[in-house]
Amino acid sequence: MEILKKPEEMTAWSKRIAREDKTIGFVPTMGALHEGHVSLIRKARAENDAVVVSIFVNPTQFGPSEDYERYPRCFEKDAKICEAEKADAVFHPAVEDMYPEDHRTFIEVCELSNRLCGISRPGHFRGVATVVAKLFGIVRPDRAYFGMKDAQQLAIIERMNRDLCLGVRIVRCETVREPDGLAMSSRNAYLSAAERKQALAISRALRECEAKFAAGERKAMPLLKVMGDILAREPDIEVDYVAIVDPATLDDISEVKDEALAAIAVYIGKARLIDNTMLRAKSG
Ligand code: AMP
Repeated sequence: MEILKKPEEMTAWSKRIAREDKTIGFVPTMGALHEGHVSLIRKARAENDAVVVSIFVNPTQFGPSEDYERYPRCFEKDAKICEAEKADAVFHPAVEDMYPEDHRTFIEVCELSNRLCGISRPGHFRGVATVVAKLFGIVRPDRAYFGMKDAQQLAIIERMNRDLCLGVRIVRCETVREPDGLAMSSRNAYLSAAERKQALAISRALRECEAKFAAGERKAMPLLKVMGDILAREPDIEVDYVAIVDPATLDDISEVKDEALAAIAVYIGKARLIDNTMLRAKSG
């Protein structure tokens, strides 16, 4: 497995692979790899001739009072995981090489970026879209793998990829959970044992919402109430949002027709955690 630090080295590597008529599967990450990331790498491994994992804590997607400085960084351990999962290359650039002094271009995916997490994290998705576009330009993948846990991010990247004709096949990957239901996240490391226990209310709220939906409830209000009530019982949880939205536009919906995204974001201790589930009315 190769570890490449310079963008031009990464591009040269990818061009070599493409000349051999091989496909490249790409998994962009910020490191602190867990089973969620591993599931993306495995899917990429199964579907492509070559696999590239990027590990880059992207400063432009963090707000000034957010956790950029203390975001967990453990490159040696991450590289071992990538090697064990048979990645062919790890791209681990320096901030100065991704954002040189005279970097001036940012990508804004309008409307979608100002909903849900975009409200409490202004500029976040501008940073995400920009770094993913840059990474696509550097790595030149055939397919790129993203987790459904970050459903808004995925919707934004799909729209950017389409609008800018980037030509990457975006592959959606299921959320990987701890055995007790908590969605895996690098930020779970911020939780104390007591907070970790309370954080289970997030997945519990989503499961209850699913159950109510399965029992026939289609109005958003009662579905939102079920989730809100479960979260409200936890003293250390501060709800950022509980929402039921159209999965493509992320607009709030009042009544679910075929499909809706139920999404939650909370603050708990030092962490901000998100999770979601897709509600699908059975067809036929
Ligand atoms: P991050 O390192 O948090 O930027 O995440 C890198 C990629 O891993 C993103 O596409 C995430 O959606 C995905 N990811 C993070 N957590 C999970 C999870 N629990 N299950 C599946 N994918 C995940």
